[in-house]
Amino acid sequence: MSSLVLGKESYESSKNATHDMPEMTDIPLIEAINRGAKIGMIYTLLVDLQLDDMVHQNERWSIRFGKAGDWMGQSLAMADTTLLSANLKTQHYKTLVDLYYTPAKLKKWGKSSGLCTRCGKEEAEILHMFSACPMLRVFLCEIEVFLKKITGCNVQLSVMLVLLGVMDSTEGIEPPLYKIRRFLFVAMAIFQLCIATDWIKKEPPTFEGWRSRLLAIYNIELSLYKLKGYKKRHRGERIWAPLTKWLENQDTP
Ligand SMILES: [Zn+2]
Repeated sequence: MSSLVLGKESYESSKNATHDMPEMTDIPLIEAINRGAKIGMIYTLLVDLQLDDMVHQNERWSIRFGKAGDWMGQSLAMADTTLLSANLKTQHYKTLVDLYYTPAKLKKWGKSSGLCTRCGKEEAEILHMFSACPMLRVFLCEIEVFLKKITGCNVQLSVMLVLLGVMDSTEGIEPPLYKIRRFLFVAMAIFQLCIATDWIKKEPPTFEGWRSRLLAIYNIELSLYKLKGYKKRHRGERIWAPLTKWLENQDTP
């Protein structure tokens, strides 16, 4: 039996779970990642197979966002074509299928009061932990200002963009935003990584921490494109173009 089929069972059991708290390693994909399995291959299979689980998860996101849409499909398609590192792919997958032990989830197992560890005021489900918590306001605002500055576009960090890296296409995306959507996807995956790394800390992650991660990943990815010796301009270079352009302008006296 493949780990992907087991993934469906995990979903079924998680729907009925009220007492037994599963270990993170019980979730097959994560267990496979921990073993060093080829994340890219597993991830591609996941995208291709369109598991039933994805339909359920999509319904959950639609309810959370208060708006029906193919959120999972959009986000997966974006991840598939944005050349994220394995680390970021794992991160994206965890967010996409909500693998976090949020205080709200832990409450079901009697392991938490359910209140947010940062603000201590509200029930902390995934939307609160990644977007709605008032303690994240400054962090998110600084990222938004920076993204507006380097892209020259009116970037709005909607809850869909923050959590799944996608924009609400039903409202129509203006052409400049459409051009930079993959860059925004990577920027928000790195935001999610910052949140997940400092998950239980009372202090929110910092803008400087996010920016240095962004630059580190940018440098690694660009070095890899060069090492691989692509003759044509690599797709990844186009994804990172807003940052490249901004950095070049920084160097200009
Ligand atoms: Zn909070």
